[in-house]
Amino acid sequence: MVQKIYQLPELDYKYDDLEPAYSADLLEVHYSKHHQAYVDGANQTLSDLAAARDKTDFGKLKQLQKDLAFNVSGHVMHTLFWRNMSPSDGKGPDAALSKAIDRGFGGIDALREQFQAAGGSIQGSGWAALSWEPLSETLVVEQIYDHQGNSSCGAQPIMVMDMWEHAFYLQYRNEKMLWIKAFWDLVNWQDVGERLQKAQKGHSLV
Ligand code: FE
Repeated sequence: MVQKIYQLPELDYKYDDLEPAYSADLLEVHYSKHHQAYVDGANQTLSDLAAARDKTDFGKLKQLQKDLAFNVSGHVMHTLFWRNMSPSDGKGPDAALSKAIDRGFGGIDALREQFQAAGGSIQGSGWAALSWEPLSETLVVEQIYDHQGNSSCGAQPIMVMDMWEHAFYLQYRNEKMLWIKAFWDLVNWQDVGERLQKAQKGHSLV
């Protein structure tokens, strides 16, 4: 039996609350189908790993390790993504987040340009992420492939934009730059600011 270690998180809003920037149809299928598949995949992989240990049969371990990283990261990134968005309240970054953005990028306009370019130039599927890098104690933009590739170890994403086609195609079709522009209307800056504070309190890795 597969244990439900990972679970689909509740959304803080209704499916139609992010319209018009993110349609109810798109949100429902993205959340209830795609995100659910990562949750199921992560639980299944944990179960398969337990079975492999029971039998001391690690013949499929290489694939299982890939499945674990992919599905757990897919679950983590989508959970962040839903919480990074909210019906627009018109508020921007708080003082501490603004200071960190200024330090990392020279200003929010420069962050936006790099973040948009990171999202728009992914080859295949991935994410743009604003991440706290603990060794340098700065914010960086990451261009993440699939859900976990091309990210610095220890960097903690605090704002993520899904650039998989499933994240925008139903509404924006091939116009991915329209989705990228719409994302800014949805950013929950309060959530991003709180994540920065938590990340900054984390212990250094080395
Ligand atoms: Fe997605």
